[in-house]
Amino acid sequence: MDTARLDQARAALRRHGVDALLVGPSADLRYLVGYHALPLERLTLLVVPAEGDPLLIVPALEEPRARDSGADQLVTLTSFTETEDPVALVVEHLEAADATARLAVQDRLWTAFTLALQGAIPAAAWVPGSSIMRELRLVKSSQEIRALREVGAAIDAVHAQVPGLLRVGRTEAEVGRDISELILREHDEVNFVIVASGPNGASPHHETGGRRLEQGDAVVVDIGGTRAGYCSDMTRNYVVGEPPGGYAELHRVLEEAQDAAVAAVAPGVAAGVIDRVAREHIADAGYGEYFVHRTGHGIGVEEHEEPWIVEGNDLVLEPGMAFSVEPGIYVPDRYGARIEDIVVVTDDGVERLNLRPREVLVAG
Ligand code: ZN
Ligand code: ZN
Ligand code: ZN
Repeated sequence: MDTARLDQARAALRRHGVDALLVGPSADLRYLVGYHALPLERLTLLVVPAEGDPLLIVPALEEPRARDSGADQLVTLTSFTETEDPVALVVEHLEAADATARLAVQDRLWTAFTLALQGAIPAAAWVPGSSIMRELRLVKSSQEIRALREVGAAIDAVHAQVPGLLRVGRTEAEVGRDISELILREHDEVNFVIVASGPNGASPHHETGGRRLEQGDAVVVDIGGTRAGYCSDMTRNYVVGEPPGGYAELHRVLEEAQDAAVAAVAPGVAAGVIDRVAREHIADAGYGEYFVHRTGHGIGVEEHEEPWIVEGNDLVLEPGMAFSVEPGIYVPDRYGARIEDIVVVTDDGVERLNLRPREVLVAG
């Protein structure tokens, strides 16, 4: 890693007339300096002034961990002991900690720290860190796209093994544990595993639990992990034995909707249009009321980030933007289905980063 991203962040601060960016443990911190900090009650904070040197403040006991990450090659590292006040270190480093200061705070910094910082610099104006960071993270570099392609192939390889895990009598949780192991073979971390069987499939974010698979179940499997700092996120639908009544037809509509939405992706198209294409197809087939979420979300160092693929978003797609296209149809008390692939906007269209077949696969 080099300081290019920090330089971009400082340029964005200057463009927005913001004096400094304050970043706690988060994807933004990993993105800027490669440090995967633990969110602790002790403050870890990267201070990036628009002018002047960035400073990474860590608790003394975390200093070896911070050094192992290599962040100290990019920024000055300083630590505080159990009896020192880290907020005082922040204020000291900010040259303009006064009434004229505009400070950006990373969106996920814990409230306790944000309030302490605001208390120490009461006259400053505060803006969300995402107002600075979104510009950096929205369009991926060729190196980031390569990482997304690799992690996309990794989750493809996991899904290829899912049919063999879905057998009558096994619980969702048992299947989920097997999938987690498979994810770890191909990734550094498991981010989430959703195994939603039978009627549970009608809940898009079902908590994988104790339900046992039955003959004729449709099963939604939505899984993701992190590999070399970048996330995967992919959903496929399986059936145990014969599909339940109406499911094959519903799934065909979903495949067409997902295909049409992916085909609509191109530079110059508004993000909201991609949602509309998927939604209209599903509504025309009579399932409109069962598609209860947006069509997709951006992905990168975080599994959910901008751009949001949602009605009304007039953000214009540009080459290098990466996001999920994941329409779903959820019939309460019966079953659900969602097809999710990650795509990246290319110079003249779209590239799919997940290449597994999209039709329902028979498991067992
Ligand atoms: Zn989701
Ligand atoms: Zn997703
Ligand atoms: Zn997903």
